[in-house]
Amino acid sequence: MLEIKNLYVDIDEKPLLKNINLVVKDGARHRIAGHNGSGKSTLVNTIAGDSSYTIKSGKIIFDGKDITKENATTRALMGIFLGAQNVPEIPGLTVLSFLKHSMAAHTHFNTGKDLSMGEFLEKLESAREQLNIPKEWLNRSVNVGFSGGERKRIMLLRLILTNPKLAILDEPDSGADIDTKKQIIDTINKMPKTTFLFISHQDDFSSKIKINETTTLDNGEIVIK
Ligand code: ADP
Ligand code: MG
Repeated sequence: MLEIKNLYVDIDEKPLLKNINLVVKDGARHRIAGHNGSGKSTLVNTIAGDSSYTIKSGKIIFDGKDITKENATTRALMGIFLGAQNVPEIPGLTVLSFLKHSMAAHTHFNTGKDLSMGEFLEKLESAREQLNIPKEWLNRSVNVGFSGGERKRIMLLRLILTNPKLAILDEPDSGADIDTKKQIIDTINKMPKTTFLFISHQDDFSSKIKINETTTLDNGEIVIK
């Protein structure tokens, strides 16, 4: 699903990742572990195409294609989902419009067809009920005024609606209470076809989502066991 070869990443000329080699198998639940500041978020943001990081050398292969030079939007459309650690607030863009635009873009990219309003609303309602999300959230601005746990639930809504090939979740359990954690676990376990790459510090969470591979980073490098 994902292969990273000899990847070196800088930010403002400061080296953050060194010689990263990583394979995430199709259907895996793969965990990235490591201390704070070891480079976990840098790695997953780079995979998703965050342009603030500079790829100095190396390659990122996704689903058999070299995506090293693709931008974040193309990577998202190709099927890479990022549930980032820090999410932006977007005043003026409602959750409803945001989800509709994301899902319409994915539908168009994958099928060449326009998303019908009926299909969108049907899928939205089913996902909203699954996550027990109040209807009024849909008319609020994206992430503005939402608590940490509520933002995670909006992330889950987007995850279900866009149904990615590879879902990257950066500390999905941080700031989530017991009920939200359970929703995160249930949502992941209901998506057996999606490959997951997680960052999580919490062992109880990791065991419930059936992690089958772990890669540990230290100071921007993979720790060889
Ligand atoms: P982790 O997610 O493992 O806690 P990060 O990938 O966020 O770690 O950060 C790795 C290192 O890179 C840290 O030392 C952090 O301060 C540094 N870093 C991350 N982003 C930036 C940035 N935008 N500018 C400067 N340094 C950064
Ligand atoms: Mg991080």
